[in-house]
This record gives sequence, C-alpha cells and structure tokens, in this order.
Amino acid sequence: MLPDYQLLRIPGPTPIPPSVMRAMNQPMIGHRSASFQQLLARVAPRLKPLFGTEQDVLILTGSGTLALEAAVVNALDEGEAALVLVTGAFGDRFRKMCQTYGIETHVLESEWGCAFDLEQVQAYLQQHSNIKAVFATYCETSTAVLNPIAELAEVVKQHSDALVIVDAVSCLGAVETEMDKWGIDILVTGSQKALMLPTGLAFAAISEQGWRKMEQNSRPRFYLDLRRYQTSLGDHSTPFTPAVSLVMGLEQALNLIEEEGLDQVIKRHQLMKEMTRQAFKALDLPLLTSDEDASPTVTAVRPSNFKADDLRSLLRKTFGLTLAGGQQKLKGEIFRVGHMGYCSPLDVLQTITAIEVGLVRLGVNIKLGKGTQAAEEVLVHDL
Ligand SMILES: *Cc1c(COP(=O)(O)O)cnc(C)c1O
Repeated sequence: MLPDYQLLRIPGPTPIPPSVMRAMNQPMIGHRSASFQQLLARVAPRLKPLFGTEQDVLILTGSGTLALEAAVVNALDEGEAALVLVTGAFGDRFRKMCQTYGIETHVLESEWGCAFDLEQVQAYLQQHSNIKAVFATYCETSTAVLNPIAELAEVVKQHSDALVIVDAVSCLGAVETEMDKWGIDILVTGSQKALMLPTGLAFAAISEQGWRKMEQNSRPRFYLDLRRYQTSLGDHSTPFTPAVSLVMGLEQALNLIEEEGLDQVIKRHQLMKEMTRQAFKALDLPLLTSDEDASPTVTAVRPSNFKADDLRSLLRKTFGLTLAGGQQKLKGEIFRVGHMGYCSPLDVLQTITAIEVGLVRLGVNIKLGKGTQAAEEVLVHDL
C-alpha cells in the first residue's frame, strides 16, 4: 500500500480541504485580541444561511455531542417531559441524555433504517399534552436516514407548544435547512462533518420561543449555559477560550461554501447520493434505507452474502480506504459510505471502484465496473 495515502469515506470526521488546513496553520492569536474579535465578527453571521436563520449562531468548543447536551440542559428542567424520536444511535443519544438529566423521557422508536412516522408523533402529542420538547435527528448517521424535519416541525407546532430540537450534526451545510421557516427552536451541529473541519467546534441557534423557554429554566448550568455565548457573541467574543485555529479554518471553509454556492453544495450532495445508490443497486447490494428516506450525506448497505466488516478491513489494508461500520444494533450488519463535505463526485467513483475490487477479492460474485458505470451514468446526465 502507498504510505501516507488515505481515503476517509466515513460520515465524520471528513477530509479537510488543503486551503482550510493552511488557514488553521496560522500563528496563534489571543482570543481576547482585536484580531480574534474581527475574525468572529466576520465568521459568525456567515453561518446563518447554513442554518436558515436570522438568529445568532453560537459557537461552542467541543464535539457535536456538547451542542446536543447544551440543547438538553438549557431547554428543560428536571421533571419536565420530552419526546425523543429515536431512529438510530444518535436519537438514542438524546434519549440517554434526557434520562441522565432527570427529564421525563418519552420515546418513539422507529425501525432502524426508516424515518420517523409523523402520524404517530401527532397522535402521541395529542395524547400527552405535558410534552415540552420534541428531540429529533435530521440525518440519523447510524442508519443513513434523512428524517423529514420540516414536516415534523409543522406537526409539533400544530398540535403542541413543545420546542422542536434538532440534531443536524451530519448534514447541516449539505442539505436544505430552513430553521426559521420550518419552525425549529434549537438547531445544533458540529464542525467535523459537512463543514469540512476537524472536530472541536459545536454550533447552536435558538428561536425566540427557545430563548424564552431557556430563560425560564432554573436548571444549574455553567460551561453549557447558552446565554453566556449569546451575550459574548454580542461583543464578538466567546465566554471561554475558543478553538481559535478552528475558527480560522471555519472562515476558509465558509469561503469555499460561498464560492461554490450553498445551492450548488446541496445539489452536489444530492448527486453523490444518487451516484452511490445507483451503483449499489447495479451491484445488487441491498441498501438499508428507501429512496425516500435516504440521506444525501451517507449511504448504508446491508449485505447478505458477505460480511460488511470483512470488506471494510480489506479495503483499509489494500487501499487505505476507510468505510464506517454499523453502530449498536447494526454492528457488523452494515457498512456505511460517507459522501459529505470535501467530497467530489469523482471521489464517489473512486470509492465505488475500490469497493468493486474489494468484493471480487472477497470472492463475491459481481461484475467489475457495473456499479461504477451506473454511477458514471448518473454523473453524465447531471452535467
Ligand atoms: C457525529 C454526530 C454527532 C456528534 O458526535 P461527536 O462525536 O460528539 O462529534 C451527533 N449527532 C449525529 C447525528 C452525528 O452524526
């Protein structure tokens, strides 16, 4: 294998563009300096279109889970009731957090690989008027499902006063996201997925209803107190030392997104989803999700005639290509291909080609080139 060569095709962390790496490699500056204030003043407003909001986007230092936890502790006091929609491992993380913080946790779990059921949510809210927040995962990374968040927010707003709290860690910046228009109250994401950065920044935007609820919440909180971040952001600052280098990288990542155009970024992810799915269909590899539920950022395959983890380890050893496996109840059952962030349609072709070679090496009966051809045909017709 060629040393120092790797293809990271997992749904986060994702590859970093060279210009973003260079931006992060600048000399350190003080986080209370005028330079950092100016940097934050330039960067923070440019996150708003990605969230689809006029609200401030708060920048926290930590992994994506920090933003999930901030949403939980700021929104809900102990003993209040929440409904968690579990469609996979990350929905389940919200459930565990709510339970950890003494929230009366109601759960609606879908079959893994499927989106949540809106009628079920509506019926549940009508029967449980004490629910103060509904937690949902936009892209459920563990199953490669993109949940219908716009429709969910509409149902929740129509049938309750509950906040709509959404984890968009593995898709914000790659799929259409209209926080204000749809009626999302707390929307969170992280830096290491579609935003093309290393792990270390977490982001949260909060609606007016969300802020009102947070103000009323007497639960103790300190590092996670989102009010501190909001106040500091008004002074182009952060309450604690931020990951300065990552904020430098964020500025360049936003440059790249703006240069390509957010609409085009979204279209590119649609295209890469379509290429990937058509390739696996042509190879007769069973997809975990339906066309309707499929995420533009990650695709999951549930093979029946070989072991997913055998393919993964062969590709890693042979080509330095890393694919993701299954989590929790899907462990060993699936492999997942990430196609988000700094990923081009040509990267998808390369990944499919490597998977075909890997399958033949494993002794799986496929016709070489069939998947690649199907992906190429999608690409040709898109250009
Ligand atoms: C990656 C991810 C997270 C955050 O995980 P961290 O490891 O804390 O960054 C949360 N939700 C979803 C849906 C994710 O894909």
